[in-house]
Amino acid sequence: MLPQTEVRDCAVRGWRPFGHAEDLDVDFHAADRPALVTNLLARCGAPRDDRYWWSQAVGARIAALVRLLAVTDGIEQLGLQARCREPACGAWFEFELPLASVLDQLPPDEPIRATLPGSRPVTLRRPSGRDLSDWRAQRPRSHEQAVQAMLQSLVIDGAVSVEDAPALADILASEDPLVAFSVSCACPVCDVPTEVRIDLEDIALTRLQQQQRALLREIHVLASHYGWTEAQILAVAPARRARYLSLIDEGA
Ligand SMILES: [Zn+2]
Repeated sequence: MLPQTEVRDCAVRGWRPFGHAEDLDVDFHAADRPALVTNLLARCGAPRDDRYWWSQAVGARIAALVRLLAVTDGIEQLGLQARCREPACGAWFEFELPLASVLDQLPPDEPIRATLPGSRPVTLRRPSGRDLSDWRAQRPRSHEQAVQAMLQSLVIDGAVSVEDAPALADILASEDPLVAFSVSCACPVCDVPTEVRIDLEDIALTRLQQQQRALLREIHVLASHYGWTEAQILAVAPARRARYLSLIDEGA
């Protein structure tokens, strides 16, 4: 596991928090999610290069989004909720996910060698952001077409057919744990262990969007109250903006 300081150190290495004036234009409702992720990483991550982020494996992009969330919110743990799978219990409970444990699961940048049923060797590469975009652009008309496109781009070596798709998907998932991320938690009520699926990309995008909304609201309140322009408001440090906002709240 990475030391907790690792998360804080990101900012030093060229990352910046999401929340600059130009970030207010990011459209979180855009249908093209791979493009949205690339856009966020290329504007706030290091390097600031969209070609670099398109070329990264999906798991590496998810880790980078989590890193951006850590830098933006200044957090080292993610507070999450889950529901106990034990039918007799079904209790909701809260738990903390240390972000360093997520950043530690970066996929290695090398092909995956695995064996399919019947002792057939196969060599695969991990899907990249560019692959997601290409598959999306091909607009497959059926599930079979989508699977075919995926196999054609990812299988480097080995004879595979559409029937191998579930086994190949399992191999990719086990080799890239952030894509289908889950953690094992013991329910605090009944103590039964529960495997919790966590959609890290969705969580990171949702929280960055909340950050954007909160910033717009801050600008709206401060502009309405003091008559400042957007640029003047954003030039004030976030901590000081928060103090002005609480003064307005108090009716001072
Ligand atoms: Zn339970």
